[in-house]
Amino acid sequence: MHEFRFDPVPMPEAAQALRGEVRAFIAQEVAQGAFTPSRNSWSSFDADFSRKCGARGYIGMRWPKQYGGHERSALERYVVTEEMLAGGAPVGAHWIADRQSGNQILRYGSERAKRTILPKIAAGECFFSIGMSEPDSGSDLAAVRTRASKVDGGWSISGTKVWTSGAHQTHYLIALARTAPKEEDRHAGMTQFIVDLAQPGVSVRPIYNLYGGHDFNEVVFDGYFVPDDMVMGEPGMGWKLVTGELAFERSGPDRFLSTYQLLIESIRAVGTEPDARAANEIGRLVAHLATLRRMSISVAGMLERGEQPAVEAALVKDIGTAFEREIPETFRHLLATEPTLGEGTSYAELLGMTILRAPGFTIRGGTREILRGMIARGLGLR
Ligand SMILES: Cc1cc2nc3c(=O)[nH]c(=O)nc-3n(C[C@H](O)[C@H](O)[C@H](O)COP(=O)(O)OP(=O)(O)OC[C@H]3O[C@@H](n4cnc5c(N)ncnc54)[C@H](O)[C@@H]3O)c2cc1C
Repeated sequence: MHEFRFDPVPMPEAAQALRGEVRAFIAQEVAQGAFTPSRNSWSSFDADFSRKCGARGYIGMRWPKQYGGHERSALERYVVTEEMLAGGAPVGAHWIADRQSGNQILRYGSERAKRTILPKIAAGECFFSIGMSEPDSGSDLAAVRTRASKVDGGWSISGTKVWTSGAHQTHYLIALARTAPKEEDRHAGMTQFIVDLAQPGVSVRPIYNLYGGHDFNEVVFDGYFVPDDMVMGEPGMGWKLVTGELAFERSGPDRFLSTYQLLIESIRAVGTEPDARAANEIGRLVAHLATLRRMSISVAGMLERGEQPAVEAALVKDIGTAFEREIPETFRHLLATEPTLGEGTSYAELLGMTILRAPGFTIRGGTREILRGMIARGLGLR
């Protein structure tokens, strides 16, 4: 049975100093009008801001210097991501590449992939999407039907990915495809590929959400050619790689700070003399936030020590995304504000847009049911 431990991790001095530096940078950017703090920080695409982050060394922080990285610790990276989210910085353009795709390339990419792609990611000039889900395989990722067949010098991919966030604005994605027929072990015979979205044979079509916004896409491969040196690891290793990638995706502060702006604005709206019910609710939410933070920092500490905290990451995501969803519901009942839709700065719009986005928080990156299955397995219950 897996033993869950979330030991406290002291923040090293270098991380504390970095916190002040990032806060000052964000305050300066806001003061100069470079951006208005966003309510949807890690889904807000702003290539100029990403370039500035790259120039300041805030992307690819843990990667080796020879690939454009900065050889900083997981806790220093943690502090930067936390400050960016809390400050509402528009980090969406580089978020996926920095959080997961770049790490995958560093571990499993060819030397050419590492040399040509990682420095551009770290400079804030190269952005990635996630090519996992398909029309008939979301939770059951092993059911992917996108196929890659061996051809001279590489692989030819055909099939369809769906819900591909940001693919209309990014340069690459990492696609999971079937490279051998299904065997008894349904996790065998899959491979991850680096896909350059500017090459022929792949097209990106918009999927508009209920509000008419364009975040999602459908990505269609029709004989798309990938050279051998854009294969991740060895052909057939795809399942191991994709589950490792999901561990990077699940434990960070982006899994409990998506509605942080609403929490702060709501506390302001409640005012300095809350009634007993409001005081209770705010106290409870802030206590949860403090606990989640400690758990997430503890996972960053495990990553720093080279451990594989996949089950702990699933737990942080399960509790963290439930917390994110609870914030709009709580204040909707506490405050007499009618939520409205719009990108303006009023509290009613902030509440309305958060309610609209909230259902996705517990779905993206793996649903709660799937995470709970993993946690139960970790506890030896299934
Ligand atoms: C905002 C957002 C952004 C996204 N971005 C991306 C992206 O960039 N790239 C990408 O590849 N995907 C992306 N996705 C897709 C996301 O990963 C899938 O939607 C998710 O994994 C669920 O898959 P599904 O939609 O096919 O639902 P299904 O798998 O059909 O699930 C439907 C319901 O059944 C439940 N269920 C399924 N299997 C089980 C089971 N074994 N036990 C118990 N319950 C089960 C699920 O929990 C869910 O409630 C995004 C989704 C959202 C909402």
